[in-house]
Amino acid sequence: MCGIFGIDGQADAANLTYLGLYALQHRGQESAGIVSFDGERMHAERGMGQVSDIFGERVLGRLPGGHAIGHTRYSTAGSSVRFNAQPIVVKTSMGPLAVVHNGNLVNATEIRQRLEAEGAIFQTTSDTEVILHLVARNPRASIVESLMVALGQVRGAYSLLFLTEQGVIAARDPNGFRPLLLGRFQGQPCFSSESCAFDLLDIEAVRELAPGEVAAVIDGELRSFHLPAASPSSRCAFEMVYFARPDSRIFDQSVSQARLGMGARLAREAPAAADMVVPVPDSGLFAAMGYARESGLPLEFGLIRNHYVGRTFIQPRQSIRHFGVRVKLNPIRELIAGRRVVLIDDSIVRGTTSPKIVKMVRDAGAAEVHVRIACPPTRSPCHYGIDMPTREELIASRLEVDEIRREIGADSLAYLSLDGMLECLAGDRESYCTACWSGEYRVEVSEADRRQRELFPIVTESEN
Ligand code: AMP
Repeated sequence: MCGIFGIDGQADAANLTYLGLYALQHRGQESAGIVSFDGERMHAERGMGQVSDIFGERVLGRLPGGHAIGHTRYSTAGSSVRFNAQPIVVKTSMGPLAVVHNGNLVNATEIRQRLEAEGAIFQTTSDTEVILHLVARNPRASIVESLMVALGQVRGAYSLLFLTEQGVIAARDPNGFRPLLLGRFQGQPCFSSESCAFDLLDIEAVRELAPGEVAAVIDGELRSFHLPAASPSSRCAFEMVYFARPDSRIFDQSVSQARLGMGARLAREAPAAADMVVPVPDSGLFAAMGYARESGLPLEFGLIRNHYVGRTFIQPRQSIRHFGVRVKLNPIRELIAGRRVVLIDDSIVRGTTSPKIVKMVRDAGAAEVHVRIACPPTRSPCHYGIDMPTREELIASRLEVDEIRREIGADSLAYLSLDGMLECLAGDRESYCTACWSGEYRVEVSEADRRQRELFPIVTESEN
């Protein structure tokens, strides 16, 4: 879970990258960073926190040059500490090289152990650094060639941007797990995880990089090289369900339209005798809109979200009922009291949030609470870059739907079917990864990587 943005051939490349990262903030709030190249040197600034915490005029002033790449991070491999903040910048025999990564490699630990046994020294605990080692160890006549050799050795999910002395190089893994778009700004190429960053900067979205595509500007022209692509691809369907911004177009589809479709389909699959549809903001908004349109029930904004809550906050010493969830969400009693409510959310992961919200809605006087979830039960952890807990922590891996209903305290509970969800997504249904629901992993996780993840699960601050 990360956002990446890069731009070539612009006088204020770092400034544009910083603005691009603003639009990609939802993809990672733990750390952010930018590296620029001024024709002679790389300049890097990174830190913990959100883009606005790290970058101001003074910091951006230290990032001169016409080429830049940037990153917003939500750790899925390696812990959330400053030395894991990206971009990572290194020196190689082919010149300086920087990288930003969205995704998660599934054989990085295996490769790392092998390289360490040969004497390599790693500076971070992130999987991304492995790629730089492989590039540095495989010098070729051109940096692109070197990259192709390195990428041929790693498996898993990666959308990558490299900054080299020749400019920005973009690469998407052969399965196309994570999105990566090519844009054009004043005739020059730029790259972004999502189109919402292009919209902000009036950048023309040209197309998505193909799975396995490596794109680089060579002699003033954008050229593409190809790693053997997997067939079918494995686009992450959870991006469409939850992660991407609704105003983006990724995987050749509008995210908002896909979510509207999922909500409508959910209304057909799991109608509820109720008076109103209430979204859990913001993640359930578009599915709720679709559900309301299809069912004919009114859409009412019965829960209000405070958008200004950071990832952590100091709890009061005395116990306050529902404090943890109310700091983010507060019900509007006047809308809810005495009514039968269909509560729509995008997903249930651990199952810690839903019981609190259901209770909150009941305490606000709801006569009945029917929960509808706009994706199937999440039963298996993601190894490809979405922050998901271990299998044991996923409530749907332990409990059947009716047991979950009881656990969250709802009058009824239904999930969207896998078939129903896939029908709402553009293109061939086989081209999506559904591992977190179906348990079908398309790219094998190495034994060493599996053990590493079990021993050292990602520690992120609790959601309170
Ligand atoms: P919980 O079931 O308590 O783990 O919380 C699930 C809620 O968190 C869902 O309604 C989503 O909006 C949101 N969510 C889903 N997936 C993730 C994720 N990987 N990381 C953080 N939040 C998520």
